[in-house]
Amino acid sequence: MTNNTSTILNLLPDALNRLADWQARWHEYEVDDTLRLPEDKARTVLAELVDRLGDNYPFWHPSYAGQMLKPPHAIASMAYFIAQQINPNNHALDGGPATAKMEIEVVAEMARMFGYETHLGHLTSSGTIANLEALWVARHLHPTKAVAFSTEAHYTHGRMCEVIGAKTVEIAVDGRGRMDLDDLRARLKTGEIGTVVMTSGTTALGAVDPIDEAMKLRREFEFRIHVDGAYGGFFKLLAETDALDADSAAAFRAIAESDSVVVDPHKHGLQPYGCGSVLFRDPAVGRFYKHDSPYTYFTSNELHLGEISLECSRAGAAAAALWATLQCFPLTADGLGAILRKTRAAALRWAELIESSEQLRLVLAPQLDIVNFYATTTSHKVSETSRITHRVFEALMNDAEHPIYLAKFNAKPSLFAQHQDLVWDEPTMTVFRSVLMRPEHLDYVPALHERVLSKL
Ligand SMILES: *Cc1c(COP(=O)(O)O)cnc(C)c1O
Repeated sequence: MTNNTSTILNLLPDALNRLADWQARWHEYEVDDTLRLPEDKARTVLAELVDRLGDNYPFWHPSYAGQMLKPPHAIASMAYFIAQQINPNNHALDGGPATAKMEIEVVAEMARMFGYETHLGHLTSSGTIANLEALWVARHLHPTKAVAFSTEAHYTHGRMCEVIGAKTVEIAVDGRGRMDLDDLRARLKTGEIGTVVMTSGTTALGAVDPIDEAMKLRREFEFRIHVDGAYGGFFKLLAETDALDADSAAAFRAIAESDSVVVDPHKHGLQPYGCGSVLFRDPAVGRFYKHDSPYTYFTSNELHLGEISLECSRAGAAAAALWATLQCFPLTADGLGAILRKTRAAALRWAELIESSEQLRLVLAPQLDIVNFYATTTSHKVSETSRITHRVFEALMNDAEHPIYLAKFNAKPSLFAQHQDLVWDEPTMTVFRSVLMRPEHLDYVPALHERVLSKL
């Protein structure tokens, strides 16, 4: 893996030389003195930078199985770096014609992945901004109605609803951490809800809301469905395989009928940060973005991405990186899907090991590649389990020989319907949360498991 990465990075000088040939077509000029930088100074600063970066966790390594973090694929980093030499701005065709075309292409590929027959969409700087746009459009369509999301939805939905001035309604979750449809139906009956946010892969648990079942409620009630697939969206690639359970696969297939969907290429799409995306099924929502920029739209009468996005400047390099990546890892079950198939298998493998051990217990069976578990105790008190989670978390991370890195999650009692033996002497229980985002985790899971047991 490391070897392959460096081989790919070795292609960089050649690519930069080709770029320099193109740059040499313009009349020669002297770089200004104010920009000159002595090589020694640059070397010293870069050395200090690398030293300071040593204060990070090893996000690239399978011993890191904590938060939703991992470095981009080398092809994405290189494409980003190369495009950045020109630094196109995808706001307008005036700012980045080539990368704007790449963005339109990759967005069409993602729309195809979700099964949208028509679409309007673009990349964003993050999943939060992408969700904000979808909710902002939803609010234009249902100006007086509320936005509903489950208690396990990402925390930014509530905040973004404050930004757009929309009322919110929280829907309960079922025993698997998915939106509870009985509760949703009861709230829809009041007529107050205009939009429902369904999450295809919640941040804490990786739970997949029953999007297909919610679609059926649209026969009785009129409301929009926005799918937050910031984390889990790319698992759609596995919806026709046996890698997902039947309920999750059906939910992913139903995204084709949703009104809008968000997916973060900077999470499971091998991209550096700064790459989210939002897609609408009905291109007519473009009318809400109408504005008149006096500065930017001059070189072409074709659509400029800035005319259909909330943000102004955006890195064209992000589109270049995603375009190059999808040339190498296309949006198919055997392309990018092959990576997700392994991360999913890693979660199932660890879940099995946890279930067959006396000392650990799963919170819920994983639906994607996120595993939540806790240490069993004789007292069954959640306070004691939380204390063990905190202690073991630190011990694992600070082990001098073989550290591993997990995350923690403060879980509410509603997720433990099948764990009747727990004594809730505190309102929440802190459990381990592990996001297995690297395909190498599949082989590494037994080591992670052994490390956890060794610290109990
Ligand atoms: C990560 C995440 C977000 C927020 O996306 P950012 O790119 O971090 O802004 C929203 N929803 C879900 C489900 C997520 O996992």
